[in-house]
Amino acid sequence: MDLGIKGRSAIVCAASKGLGRGSALALAREGVAVTINARRADALEATAAAIRKETGVKVTAVAGDITTEAGRAAVLAACPVPDILVTNAGGPPSGDFRAWSREDWLKALDASMLAPIALMKATIDGMIDRRWGRVVNITSGSVKNPYPTLGLSNGARAGLTGFVAGLARQVVKHGVTINNLLPGSHETDRLHQLAEAEAKAAGKTVEAVLEANKAYETAGRYGTAEEFGAACAFLCSAHTGFITGQNLLLDGGAYPGTL
Ligand code: NAP
Repeated sequence: MDLGIKGRSAIVCAASKGLGRGSALALAREGVAVTINARRADALEATAAAIRKETGVKVTAVAGDITTEAGRAAVLAACPVPDILVTNAGGPPSGDFRAWSREDWLKALDASMLAPIALMKATIDGMIDRRWGRVVNITSGSVKNPYPTLGLSNGARAGLTGFVAGLARQVVKHGVTINNLLPGSHETDRLHQLAEAEAKAAGKTVEAVLEANKAYETAGRYGTAEEFGAACAFLCSAHTGFITGQNLLLDGGAYPGTL
């Protein structure tokens, strides 16, 4: 299927690794020029080179922290007129809510709620003027199925989800859609980091925790960044102008609800 977005431009945040990288690669495979971002320049440049080599599209790498104004300004300066915006950042740490300070909450809100909102604020009016735009926010399965140890994520992402539910309905008549993709367990560094914390608390090895958790996955496996990216590219395609305000779980059926 031709996604109909060849020649478009995209900002993909937090994309040197994992789900952001998978999304940037899938868009680049469709002929979209991508501006990718992450804090560490070396890993980001390596990813940019790999995407360029595989797809031949223009890939611009902008190192910086997307949760800061300066980081966002640098990304927007490199791609001032994006057709597509994929918001993403590192996930908050796991733990017990009794241990989290106001600072911890503000960091989580900055990364998982306020940075995506600031990026939408900076780009959506241009999309409206051009009568076409696609925004995909990478959130988490925790929005529908809260994980007890991920309270910072459960709380902050719920705020973004509520905001998007309203904004998506305001802009769709101008050809701009906004949807959230909710990853379940995908085999990325983030999954390994969470497994490390679990292994430490339980006195097990990371490998043992990952194997044990995999057994609980409905699909019998973890998701991949590549299949996540393909779903993201589809939501950014020419064919999805009537899909908006949705929260799409990519979790291999892990969420047990009928709806
Ligand atoms: P990952 O493999 O650890 O990759 C994270 C990427 O984000 C890296 O490129 C990292 O590069 C970049 N990054 C982190 N903080 C950043 C910041 N402040 N500014 C710019 N770039 C930043 O993580 P992932 O698994 O792809 O997860 C992506 C998002 O999905 C996270 O919010 C995570 O909580 C959420 N999620 C993931 C899963 C899963 O199973 N993987 C499940 C549910 C939700 P630098 O470190 O160099 O900045």
